Amino acid sequence: MASLNREAAPGSGAQVEVRCAVVGSGPSGFYAAEALLKQLPKAQVDLFEGLPTPFGLVRYGVAPDHPRIKSVTASFERIAESPRLRFFGNVHIGRDLQGSELLAHYHTVIYATGGSQSRALDIPGIDRDNVFGSSEFVGWYNGHPDQRTLPVDTSPGSAVVIGMGNVALDIARMLVLAPVQLAKTDIADEALAVLTDSNITEVCLLARRGPVQAAFTPKELEQLMALPDVELVVEPQDLQLDGASEVQLAQPESGEARQNLALLRRIVERGQGGSKRIRFLFNVSPVEISSDGEQQQCLSLARNRLQDDGQGRLVAKATGESLRVSAGLVVHATGYQGQAVGDLNFDPRRGVIQNREGRAFAREEVLSSQEFVAGWIKRGASGVIGSNKHCANETVDQLLKQLPEAPGAIEKDIQVLLESRGVNYVSFADWRLLDAHEQSLGKAVGRPRRLITDVPQML
Ligand SMILES: Cc1cc2nc3c(=O)[nH]c(=O)nc-3n(C[C@H](O)[C@H](O)[C@H](O)COP(=O)(O)OP(=O)(O)OC[C@H]3O[C@@H](n4cnc5c(N)ncnc54)[C@H](O)[C@@H]3O)c2cc1C
Repeated sequence: MASLNREAAPGSGAQVEVRCAVVGSGPSGFYAAEALLKQLPKAQVDLFEGLPTPFGLVRYGVAPDHPRIKSVTASFERIAESPRLRFFGNVHIGRDLQGSELLAHYHTVIYATGGSQSRALDIPGIDRDNVFGSSEFVGWYNGHPDQRTLPVDTSPGSAVVIGMGNVALDIARMLVLAPVQLAKTDIADEALAVLTDSNITEVCLLARRGPVQAAFTPKELEQLMALPDVELVVEPQDLQLDGASEVQLAQPESGEARQNLALLRRIVERGQGGSKRIRFLFNVSPVEISSDGEQQQCLSLARNRLQDDGQGRLVAKATGESLRVSAGLVVHATGYQGQAVGDLNFDPRRGVIQNREGRAFAREEVLSSQEFVAGWIKRGASGVIGSNKHCANETVDQLLKQLPEAPGAIEKDIQVLLESRGVNYVSFADWRLLDAHEQSLGKAVGRPRRLITDVPQML
């Protein structure tokens, strides 16, 4: 492996000073920085983050009632302790600095900018009030500065979450969690107030296909099953599988689907009641959001059945049957995607920067030797926090192959440019002050932290 050779050989790229920029301080940015620091003992790594706060979706995506998952930030903080790493928060590449300026200041640049945009859902009525994408809604309850004033109205009794992956289940859980439970978390104050006052008693989760194809994990479903005073409703006929789903379920890789199905059957059998309800609707596609005669918002759905597409995939086909559900609040959670950065070749369909094993395409068919990608902007929006470590390591291995044996010295320091522009950047020490402040605000009211959601206040 090139990386190991470099570490072993004196006088190689590992021994000279290399300036590396990493853009984005989510899990993949930190894992990429860690790999660079390990593989290149004389490298200086600068980590840029557009927001004043580090950790990407660990702070602004992971659900507030999952504190153990959020505690992964302790390992990122250890990485940030390296004297060879500088954190520049509140520096957005594209706004405060351009990609070309990074290339002039660094030997290599890794973009780890994630995929934090909701995939668009193109149906009539999607732009109505109280209809949101999951990234806005999740950002709102997690205190993302861009979503702090999202006009969420929980006065209607019903909500619909379009999608049935883990993010959709997170959202459904947040909508029915008892206020006393919410108040124990680090949910944003704005969202806590709105959800405490909520009238929502029924949340409908929608999946285009059947239970065997559903994207949630058994662990997430078990969490819903453990919620006190919440009835889960699964239609028994949805658990009667067609032949093709039976075949899919029998495959060795369908272990999670088998567990999901067993849990869904247990839900039907136990028939537990509750003052709030989550309904699972399988084999339906959203068609239109509109108002019914009494001006209540509702969602029209088309009933689907599964059909083999001839290439071994089971796809949803409309049967012609339709139905309607009350939908006072609608959140569509059908996936995330990344955004283009600089001039790098972007694939809008997949929402990723085009790359080969992490080496970015500067243009169609032209691989960059200086620019790389890691994490969700490289692979697309899937995978848990830990998946980004292997992904970042692969990228750094590719980067080491492109690094000249003796990179020329770069004297220019980006800090000088930032200061000359008056960019109000946040160091990691500054972040620690904000972190301590949020925790002390939380401690005073018996919560893990109270999120500051306003950028000027953070600064
Ligand atoms: C709602 C939700 C819940 C999740 N829950 C879990 C969970 O419970 N457990 C789990 O293991 N995984 C969970 N995940 C998955 C996990 O969050 C991702 O695997 C991980 O965050 C992806 O890491 P990343 O670094 O690629 O992207 P991100 O975490 O999105 O980080 C990207 C960072 O780049 C910054 N950035 C973007 N553009 C720029 C720019 N131009 N200049 C400077 N900075 C920029 C962003 O502000 C952000 O901080 C969840 C994901 C979502 C969406």
